Amino acid sequence: MPGGVNSPVRAFRAIGGTPFFVSSAQGATLTTSDGRELIDFVCTWGPAIHGHNHPKIRAAIAEALGRGTSFGTPHLGEIELAELITQFFPSIQKLRLCNSGTEATMSAIRLARGFTGRDRIIKFSGCYHGHSDSLLIKAGSGALTHGHPDSAGVPAAFAQETLVLPYNDCAALDAAFAAQPEKIAAVILEPYCGNVGFIMPDPGYLAHLRAITRKYGALLIFDEVMTGFRLARGGVQELEGISPDLTCLGKIIGGGLPVGGFGGRAEVMDYLAPLGPVYQAGTLSGNPLAVAAGIAALRLLEEENPYAQLAALGRQLRDAALAAARAKGIALQVPQCGSMFSFFFSAEPVRDYASALRSDAALYARLFHAALDRGVYLAPSAYEAGFISTAHAGPAIDRACDVIAEAIRLL
Ligand code: PMP
Repeated sequence: MPGGVNSPVRAFRAIGGTPFFVSSAQGATLTTSDGRELIDFVCTWGPAIHGHNHPKIRAAIAEALGRGTSFGTPHLGEIELAELITQFFPSIQKLRLCNSGTEATMSAIRLARGFTGRDRIIKFSGCYHGHSDSLLIKAGSGALTHGHPDSAGVPAAFAQETLVLPYNDCAALDAAFAAQPEKIAAVILEPYCGNVGFIMPDPGYLAHLRAITRKYGALLIFDEVMTGFRLARGGVQELEGISPDLTCLGKIIGGGLPVGGFGGRAEVMDYLAPLGPVYQAGTLSGNPLAVAAGIAALRLLEEENPYAQLAALGRQLRDAALAAARAKGIALQVPQCGSMFSFFFSAEPVRDYASALRSDAALYARLFHAALDRGVYLAPSAYEAGFISTAHAGPAIDRACDVIAEAIRLL
């Protein structure tokens, strides 16, 4: 396997050191192949909001397994999952399931282009939307971590159709639309960014995006692959009261199995085959095991409504880290919302890609290793968000806060 891995950040090449192998995961804990137990703040990159291997999700998968692993036909589970999603995301009038976040965003872009009859899209530097050609330009996440925010192999002709703007910059957006008022099919963004560290929008920024896309007839696409069901059941669009035209989902809606989904206004979604001219398909789309896991995960969120609890855990972690940094005299910011957070070793406010890159990633790498040596697994990149699960409540969060504070003292 190139780099020994099936997804680049797992190789620890940017953060240094040797990656560990995991033999099992339970609750807030990963058990490594050499028998170490780690408190996990990566949560399989977001999906594990209920902790690993939750008994209700496991039971749902086992029950589905008894009925067969794939049908290649419609089945009732797809409808149940779609109803759960649309219940919490009123902007999603129609939904299509696929197999990853990458597929969701790639297909949403094609749909926006097909619907508007325009080719150009706007994305923001540091936002990661998976690894399709149109979107792997000034991307965050692993692409940024490994110093290749623009991938080789993306044809220049494709890249030209993607305008990249700074996040949180209304003037740049106004200028881009004024320069080509009838060319832009869609604006896609992570409404709260989790792939360049964690960055939230300035007040009014998302409302401005909504207004300007509407004014110029471009679609607004919220990529809530990370934030959907993570920050609120209805994602950032619920928190901010903004209704995008299309929404991309993934991660939590698959309960830890491979799933993506995209949906939105019915008149736009009806451009998809078989009703409309935009083609999109998948052998395993709506897979019964993945759908069963997703239903179980979302039902748990419906029952438990754990967002206040998760936010308290997030604040506890943030406050512990900030207190330790203050005592040590190190400039640290811990942007946090609910169960997402990151660490920026920087004195200036981090509002976008450029200011995130000016934070001290080498210091973050030292924090990462000091924490890992003491049994706490933070994101293996300064440019990834951390995630907290309900299973972190109790001893795990207390122990993790002590470890992170000690690791900061040792910097
Ligand atoms: N969009 C966002 C916001 C993401 O965070 C990710 C993955 N981290 C993706 C899209 C791509 O999802 P996947 O890795 O499932 O293809």
